[in-house]
Order: sequence, then C-alpha cells, then structure tokens
Amino acid sequence: MPKVENRGQPLVYLETYGCQMNIADSELIGGILRRAGYGDAARPEDADVILINTCAIREHAEERVLGRLTDLARLKRRRPGLRLGLLGCMAQHNRAHLTQRAPYLDLVAGPDSYRRLPEFLGRGGFDPIVDVRLDRNETYAGLASAHEPGPRAYVTVMRGCDRFCTFCVVPYVRGRERSVAPEAVLEQCRELAGRGVKEVVLLGQTVNAYRAGEVDFGRLLRMIAQIDGIERIRFTSPHPCDMSDAVIEAMATEPKVQPYLHLPVQSGSDRMLAAMERGYSVAEYLDLVNRLRRAVPQLALSTDIIVGFHGEEPDDFAATLGLMREVGFDAAFTFKYSVREHTRAFKLGDTVSEEEKARRLSALIELQESIAAARNQAEIGRIREVLVEGPARRGAGMLSGKTPQFKTAAFPARANPGDLIAVRIVAATSHSLTAVPA
Ligand code: SF4
Repeated sequence: MPKVENRGQPLVYLETYGCQMNIADSELIGGILRRAGYGDAARPEDADVILINTCAIREHAEERVLGRLTDLARLKRRRPGLRLGLLGCMAQHNRAHLTQRAPYLDLVAGPDSYRRLPEFLGRGGFDPIVDVRLDRNETYAGLASAHEPGPRAYVTVMRGCDRFCTFCVVPYVRGRERSVAPEAVLEQCRELAGRGVKEVVLLGQTVNAYRAGEVDFGRLLRMIAQIDGIERIRFTSPHPCDMSDAVIEAMATEPKVQPYLHLPVQSGSDRMLAAMERGYSVAEYLDLVNRLRRAVPQLALSTDIIVGFHGEEPDDFAATLGLMREVGFDAAFTFKYSVREHTRAFKLGDTVSEEEKARRLSALIELQESIAAARNQAEIGRIREVLVEGPARRGAGMLSGKTPQFKTAAFPARANPGDLIAVRIVAATSHSLTAVPA
C-alpha cells in the first residue's frame, strides 16, 4: 500500500456500521489516529484516508458495506493517492474474499489490529495490507478515545465472547472474552466525568461476564458509582446466564445504575433456545425477569428476537409471541435469521422461507408495537428525571432526553445538554414520550 502523502496534516474520514461496540471502537480508532497526527475529514471527498468500520452480524449489513465500498472506490479512481481501508468484524469474517471482491482496498484490519493502524497507513508498497490476527490479550486499556461531545459516553469494559451461540459470528470475529482492568475503566470514567459526561454506558458482548481478578461486574458497577460527576450508569448487552445476584443487587441498591436492561432472549421456544445453545430455558428466563422486577420495580426491559432460525416451526413462533405477551417488553429488536458462514448453524442451512420469515417478523413487530404503546401509556402522569441531550426533532423550543428507563422524552424547557431535570409525562406513543417540566 502506498504511504499516505505528506501534504500537511492527513485527514481521515471514518464511517461506522453496526452496534454500539463498533461506535465505541470507532472512537478508539479516532483517538489512536489523532495521536498519530491525523485530522478528521467531515466528508469522504476531503479525506486522504477513508476507513469503514464494519459489522458482520447480518448478511444484509455486509452487502450494504460492499455497496458503499463500490461508491467510495469511484473517489479513489479520481484520486489514486486516496487510501481506502476496511476495519472491524467484516474484515475479520470475510478476510479470504475481501481483497478479491474489493480489489481497490489498501487495508483490511480486524478488531484487534487498531493499535497498528498508524504503522499500516505509514507503510509504503503497493500490495494491500491485511492484518486480522486475533489477540487474546488486546483490550486497548489505557488508550484514550475521541469521544463525540455530549452527556453520554460509551466505555468498552470487555471484548469478545466465549458463548458460541450457534447462529452468531461474534466469537469468530471478535475473539475470546477479555476484561479491561478495573483501574483502566475507572480512569476512563473519571476522565469522561472531567469532560462533563454524566452518563456512561458500559459495553461488552456479554458485559455482565466481566471479571478482572477479584472484580466482577457487580463490583465494577459499584466502583464506577463512586466517581463524582458520573450520575448515571447503564450497560449492554448482558447475557441472561451471567445475570448474577451481585449484578441484580447492584442494580437494586446503587441509585446511579439505571432501571433499564436490554436482555436478549432470542426465542420463546425451548426447542429453539436449545438449538441456538443459548444456555437457558424459557422458564429460567421468565424467572430471571421476575427476580429483576422484584428487585428493581421501575425496571424497563428490551430484548433481541430472531425469527425463522433453522427448524423454527409455527408452534415455536407462537411460543415466542406468547413470551412477548407474558414479559411485556418496553422495546424489542427483531431480526430475520440469516445464515452466517463460519457459525455452527451454517451447515444446517435455512428451513424457513424468506416470505415466512417476513410474515413472522411483521406479526412480531405488530405485537411489540401494541405492547410498547401500552407500556408507554402507563408512563403518563409519572414524574421522571431526564438527562437533557439537546434540541428535539419535533419543533422549536422542545428538548430531548432519556428517562431512567431509556425512553426518549421531548419537553419544552430551557436547559443545557447534560442537565438532569424532572418532567411529568403527558403523552405517549409506542416509541416516545411527551413531557412538561414537573
Ligand atoms: S452471547 Fe451468543 S449471541 Fe451474544 S455475542 Fe456471544 S455468541 Fe453472539
């Protein structure tokens, strides 16, 4: 790969796809490149280096990225000095095919290679650089990220996953579980508090499996809660099997830990849960929900659900609808199953047609919309504290912020981002709340 030309400060344009972990990784990459002397480009047209940080969880996401790369390759044809790199999960997942499918790529780097980006971008030569080694020890501890300004910040506390659910590529593209040392997590949170951040969202693929020596996730939550200036703590995504009493206790007794949990269930059928090797039954999941709600009465719950996994019969799907009704999730992220290469379910293939998956997905969404509308209607009349984020989309004078339950509220007020103010909920839809100052 030819070196980045030295014509003043080289500019990087970084585009991110996928989950919050990827957003946090992009902030980490931004920090690494800034320290190496790179500036930010607002548009790909202005950049010397374009990096796409990708997601491999769903086939659809990969196709979107390949389409985007084709667009960006046009810029490269006009400016051959422009460097184009693909980073993250898709780089790891598709390493064998990527340089053939996208021959204009100069760099393909997996999630454990970000420390070396300045070195790669500084290298000469004309062959693309491919670095997708997974590193069991890489946590990026102590490396400052280029956080977007705002009252909320993401803090990655663990990387990778050891669970190997049969449908999932994460353990293959992000490697094995590694926890960031608590001192490094605390240092990052203190630094964020110093910059005016009020809410930290702790990230990990199975975040509640965090363990560093004697410090488990419940203890980590309590340690972060001691930091002055950090007013709210959230975390995502916990695995139901790692939801220990210590974590539930910390949620119940530490006021800074917010009463909201994204607890992926994936299916309401024991047969499907066993085929996915999720490690719990429907009864165990429901028991956990009950224990959580007893401990944290104001708790809001969201989940992930996959429809049309290999072997899913109408009865299995009906059981998922039943579980949705029984739990009454505040929100659900619903997906059609897509077969992913390298996963254990790959060789099993698809047994549910695309039309049937689409039908099941719409039924699930319709049910969830009605449940979410009812749960939000129940908020009307309640006083909630919101963390002000900025102007709301819906009209002058309206601000937007999140309630402790992570519901978006719009309200007329004079306040600054980062302020915590009490509001009374006066109206609700399935997706948002309207409020007035209390
Ligand atoms: S717990 Fe399962 S679904 Fe979640 S990242 Fe790990 S393997 Fe994937």
